[in-house]
Amino acid sequence: MNKQKRTEIFTRLRDANPNPTTELNYSSPFELLIAVILSAQATDVGVNKATDKLYPVANTPEAIFALGVDGLKEYIKTIGLFNSKAENVIKTCRMLIDQHGSEVPDTREALEALPGVGRKTANVVLNTAFGQPAMAVDTHIFRVSNRTGIAPGKNVLEVEKRLVRLIPKEFLLDAHHWLILHGRYTCTARKPKCGICPIEDLCEFKQKRDYLD
Ligand code: SF4
Repeated sequence: MNKQKRTEIFTRLRDANPNPTTELNYSSPFELLIAVILSAQATDVGVNKATDKLYPVANTPEAIFALGVDGLKEYIKTIGLFNSKAENVIKTCRMLIDQHGSEVPDTREALEALPGVGRKTANVVLNTAFGQPAMAVDTHIFRVSNRTGIAPGKNVLEVEKRLVRLIPKEFLLDAHHWLILHGRYTCTARKPKCGICPIEDLCEFKQKRDYLD
C-alpha cells in the first residue's frame, strides 16, 4: 500500500470520528492502568461493569492495596482470569507505592516492570494516558492491518513496528483507536462489513468482494 492511500484511509477514519478514545472507563492514569490490566482476554464492557463498582470505593494504589487480594476479587470476579489479575494488581499497587510515589510511570521500561503489564498494556497507557505515539496491537488492529494492507506482518510486534513507521505522523497518536474501532464494528473477524465500509475502495483485501452484500 502506498503512502497516499494510507493518508486517505486515516483522513476518512478521522473525519468519521475526530476525537477517538478507549471504550474503557477511567478518570486517571492509574484507573486506566488497572482497567487495561483487567481487560486482558476480557471485554471492555465487562471490565467497565467491574470498575464502575470498584473505583468509587478504591481508585488509588493505596486504596486498592488496602483491599488485599481477596477483597479485590469480590469486585472483579466476573472477569476472566480474575485470580491472577487480582494478584498482579495488588503487586502492581505495591510497586507503585514503593517505587513511583504512587504515580503511574510514563516510560515503557518502568511500565513493563509492573506485574501484569506487558508490551501491549504499556503501549495503551503510554498512548492514552500520556499522549505518546505508541501502538498497542490487539487482535483487531492485527487483523485490520493485514487485511487492508496498511501494515502487514506475521506477528504483533512486526505489525506494531510497521504501523509506527508507516502511519503519517499527524495520525499516529489516534491511529490505535481508529483501527480498533474499525476492526470491532466494521472490519469484523468472521464477516467484515465491506458493503458499508468507508475505506472499501482503498482496502487491498483480496476477498472483499465476497463480503460486499
Ligand atoms: S473493505 Fe472489508 S476487509 Fe477492507 S477494511 Fe473494509 S470491512 Fe475490512
